[in-house]
Amino acid sequence: MKKKIIILGSTGSIGKSTLEVIKKNKKNFSVILLTANNSYKKLIAQAKEFKAKNVLINNPVYYVKVRNALKKNKIKVYTGNIPLSNIVSKKVDFTMAAIVGIAGLQPTIDTIKLSKIVAIANKESIICGWEIISKVVKKYNTKIVPVDSEHYSIMELTKGFKDNDIEEIIITASGGPFLNFKKKQLLNVKPQQAVNHPNWNMGKKISVDSANLMNKVFEVIEACKIFNFESNKYRIMIHPQSYVHSIVRFKNGLIKMILYNTDMKIPISNILNGNKNYLTNIKKIDSKLLSNLRFNDVNLEMFPSVKIIKKCLNLGYLAPTIINASNEVLVTLFLQNKIKFPNIVGTISKIFKDKDFKKYARRKPLSVKDVNIADNWARLKTISICVK
Ligand code: NAD
Ligand code: MG
Repeated sequence: MKKKIIILGSTGSIGKSTLEVIKKNKKNFSVILLTANNSYKKLIAQAKEFKAKNVLINNPVYYVKVRNALKKNKIKVYTGNIPLSNIVSKKVDFTMAAIVGIAGLQPTIDTIKLSKIVAIANKESIICGWEIISKVVKKYNTKIVPVDSEHYSIMELTKGFKDNDIEEIIITASGGPFLNFKKKQLLNVKPQQAVNHPNWNMGKKISVDSANLMNKVFEVIEACKIFNFESNKYRIMIHPQSYVHSIVRFKNGLIKMILYNTDMKIPISNILNGNKNYLTNIKKIDSKLLSNLRFNDVNLEMFPSVKIIKKCLNLGYLAPTIINASNEVLVTLFLQNKIKFPNIVGTISKIFKDKDFKKYARRKPLSVKDVNIADNWARLKTISICVK
């Protein structure tokens, strides 16, 4: 039987990697739905190549173009923020949730109701909406698998272990393109430099988040939400080569780590096809490099973002939502050359100090609407600080 699959955000970096994995094994998969925001040409090409049953182009401006292009192929075309249950009625086997930003939250929740397994790359939906996601997961008995390389590794490393067996969990960070810069050089870095990650080829937003380590802030919160390990067991270490994704130190004296090349097709293929699906086209790690793996503590002067983690975890359920929303606005402003790179984390620190922060942060979200209230407040506040 073919595996029925949905890919949310199929035209992005993770979405494309997922389709590449499927391509190697096309006869085993039936693509039920592909979604994208603006990249309509890519979406049309993917829909034709993978004979998708349905596509959703979020931006209505492109709807007619997509519909006309796919008319002959009998592929159904949808647009806008519609419930995905309007498109897919029968349960599918697998969803890859790979939209970027909080825009992915509602579609991810929709697919948890429609899918046996949901692989979540969209970390923003986890950090902002986990209280809602976990309830829906229980109700619909859906299996959730983290895609982020560090979380996929922690999941593999800790199978069969409990919190009490574990002393420390290290999440590695490459340090991004500015690792060896002087602090004052950061004032003049350009968006093009920030998105040019030394090891990974990713979407723009996560690349900027990697350049100031906000990505690691989100990843520690993501780990605290999905795993049942104490939050103070997590530590970030700089590992410029990015081959080791996570390290777990057990109380029995063993230390385990998972290494693989910087190619998201590796975790994706393992999740999608099982660990015994042998990959043939993956670049091998040069064994000479293995004798030279480097690990350092994070320089907090260079990467003050890391100091945010504790506050995010301790100041209320919606603190991560507020910080995420503010960060989404700030990354967009930086990519538009409207603010300087250090202002991203600088402005987030101001948001924490705002007199209304606690009021919006402390509520336990019961619905996406509750998340949106905190998200909206943070966006408006951030804009009012930056755009004078
Ligand atoms: P990307 O920018 O390359 O792609 C984002 C995708 O989401 C695109 O297909 C885009 O069309 C779609 N999208 C954006 N807004 C949308 C909306 N409102 N409605 C529907 N679709 C929308 O991003 P990416 O690098 O693939 O990252 C996707 C997610 O995975 C992010 O949350 C990121 O943090 C996470 N992640 C990415 C990587 C990586 O290697 N790229 C690794 C780990 C985690
Ligand atoms: Mg990661």
